[in-house]
Amino acid sequence: MPNKTEVKPKIMDLSHGQLVQWLENQGIRRYRADQIFKWIYLRQAEDFGEMTDLRKDLRLKLAESFDLGRLKVEKVAGSSDGSRKFLFRLADGRHIESVLIPERDHFTLCVSTQVGCAMGCRFCLTGSTGLVRNLSAGEILAQVRDSQVLAGPDMRLTNIVFMGMGEPLANYVHLKQALEIITDSKSGMQFAGRRVTVSTSGLAPRIIDLGRDTRVNLAVSLNAVDDKTRSWLMPVNHKYPLAELINACKQFDLPRGRKITFEYILIKDVNDSVDHARRLADLLRPLRAKINLIPYNEHHASDFKRPPQTTIDAFHAYLIKRHFTCIVRYSKGADISAACGQLRAGLC
Ligand code: SAH
Ligand code: SF4
Repeated sequence: MPNKTEVKPKIMDLSHGQLVQWLENQGIRRYRADQIFKWIYLRQAEDFGEMTDLRKDLRLKLAESFDLGRLKVEKVAGSSDGSRKFLFRLADGRHIESVLIPERDHFTLCVSTQVGCAMGCRFCLTGSTGLVRNLSAGEILAQVRDSQVLAGPDMRLTNIVFMGMGEPLANYVHLKQALEIITDSKSGMQFAGRRVTVSTSGLAPRIIDLGRDTRVNLAVSLNAVDDKTRSWLMPVNHKYPLAELINACKQFDLPRGRKITFEYILIKDVNDSVDHARRLADLLRPLRAKINLIPYNEHHASDFKRPPQTTIDAFHAYLIKRHFTCIVRYSKGADISAACGQLRAGLC
C-alpha cells in the first residue's frame, strides 16, 4: 500500500485499455472501466467515494492506488468580453493556462498541451521562453474537466480548441490519448470530432498521423506565403518548408464536408499587403481550405505591430473576392492577456 508521501499515479493518465488491464490484473471485470470513466469524465467526480455503483472494496482500492488528478486553480481572470482565463498549477509546481471563450450560444475551451513551447515563433509570447515540458494526457484532460467544474453546470461547453500554450503535435502521444477520451462517445467526454480542433505550426509528418488516427479538425498556423518570411517568423519552416507542409495538408484525411483552417496573423509591413493575399489564395487554391485572419496582438516581447483597419479590410476583401471562406478573428480576452499568443502562465 502506498504510504502518505508516495506519489500515486494519476488515473486520467490511463487510457481506457490501460484501465481495463489494471482492473483485470485485480480480477475485476472490464465493464467496470466504463463506469469509472463515466464518473471521471461525465460526472466529474471529486472523489472515488462518490462512485456509488462500484463495490466499496473497489472504491477503496482505486483510492489507494490512484490520484484523481485535479489541477489546482491559482487564479481566475474574467475579461470584459466574457472570456475567463484559468491559471492552473500542476503537481510539480509548473503553471498552464486554459481560456473559456463565450460564443453566441455555447462556450469554447482553449487548452494547453505543453508548459512553454520549443518552436520559437518570433511573434509569440508563449514561445519566447522555450519548452519546459510536455503535459501528460491526464493534465490535458484535467483542463477540460476542471474548467467544466469551475464554470458550473449551466455552461454549455461544446467545443475544444488546442490553441493554448505549446505545440500539440510535438506532444503527439499524449495528445492522441487525450483526444481518444475527449471524443469517446461511450464513456469518455463525448465531444464530436468536428467540435474539436488541433492547431499546429506545421509538423508535416504528424499532420498526416493526426488525420489517420483521429476525426478532429486541423488548423494550421500559416502566417506567411513564402519560405523566406515563414522561416524567419517560424523556425519550424526550415525543417518543413511550405511545399512539404501543403503536401501534408493534401494528404490529411479530411472527413467529408469539412475544410482545413489556415490561421494567418496579420503583422504590419511583414505579411499584410494585397499581394500577400493574392499569393495566399494561390497557395491554398488546391486545398479545401478556410482562412482565419488574426490581427496581430501586440505584446512586450516583440516589436511587431497590428496593421491599420483599412489594411486588414483590404486583405480580407481580396480573399472573399477569390471565393474563400474567410473571417477576421479578433481574439477575445486581450485585456486579461488571454488572446492568441498571449499565454505564458507566469513563465517569464
Ligand atoms: N502551437 C500551435 C497552437 C497554439 S495556437 C500553433 O502555433 O498553431 C496559437 C495561435 O496564435 C497560432 O495560430 C499563432 O499563430 C497565433 N499567435 C501567436 N502569437 C500571436 C500574436 N501575438 N497575435 C496573434 N496571434 C498569435
Ligand atoms: Fe509555439 Fe504555436 Fe507559439 Fe509558435 S505560435 S511558439 S508553435 S505556441
